[in-house]
Amino acid sequence: MGINLVIGEFASIVDDSVQFYWDTLANGTIAQHAQLRFTRIPGEMTCANCRYSFHPSDVDFACPKCGSGFVQITKGDEFRVDSIDVE
Ligand SMILES: [Zn+2]
Repeated sequence: MGINLVIGEFASIVDDSVQFYWDTLANGTIAQHAQLRFTRIPGEMTCANCRYSFHPSDVDFACPKCGSGFVQITKGDEFRVDSIDVE
């Protein structure tokens, strides 16, 4: 059994801790030996002022085009199960 997860760059989830909690939760169930597979989605922010989309650096989330601090996360905050493979 394999469980395919999609995790965005801004979702504050570390792969190892998800696998650890999974092993604890699934212990004794049919999903006990399931492998978790992770797909990472890069983050993207969009400026609310000029609508410019950009990938922010770790230290600066301001719009690189107009300098506005009014930015929204438009990609990268997802955390979902994409599919489950059952053998
Ligand atoms: Zn801007």
